[in-house]
Amino acid sequence: MNHRLNIAYYMSSTLCSELRPRIMAYQAYINSNRWRNNLARIAELNAAGFRCRLCNGLGNESRLEVHHRTYERLGCERPADLTTLCQPCHHGVTDMLRRRRYASRRPRTADVIPAIENASPLFDPSRKG
Ligand SMILES: [Zn+2]
Repeated sequence: MNHRLNIAYYMSSTLCSELRPRIMAYQAYINSNRWRNNLARIAELNAAGFRCRLCNGLGNESRLEVHHRTYERLGCERPADLTTLCQPCHHGVTDMLRRRRYASRRPRTADVIPAIENASPLFDPSRKG
């Protein structure tokens, strides 16, 4: 799933409402000049030779991105907190990390049987018209 769709999913989910302000702040930061001009970000890009650290790609086919290895110092990152990746590798790394993080969680399921067994009528049968 693409990154923007993941964000859209979280933003629309009422279950994740406590995450919404954090996600919005993160998105605003990632799209800001403050992040674009972040010295740690630029230092990491330079140290990586403006190449993806996984596939060694130059980012010609897809842009280079700087992955946060930790959010511990979000806004005050150190170069070691960051890793230069091309967009496909960044998606792969993010996907793998999320799979690992959520592997032990049981998927949410809806308990639909009681709702079906105790269904209320769609229309009031005592009313006409
Ligand atoms: Zn790559």
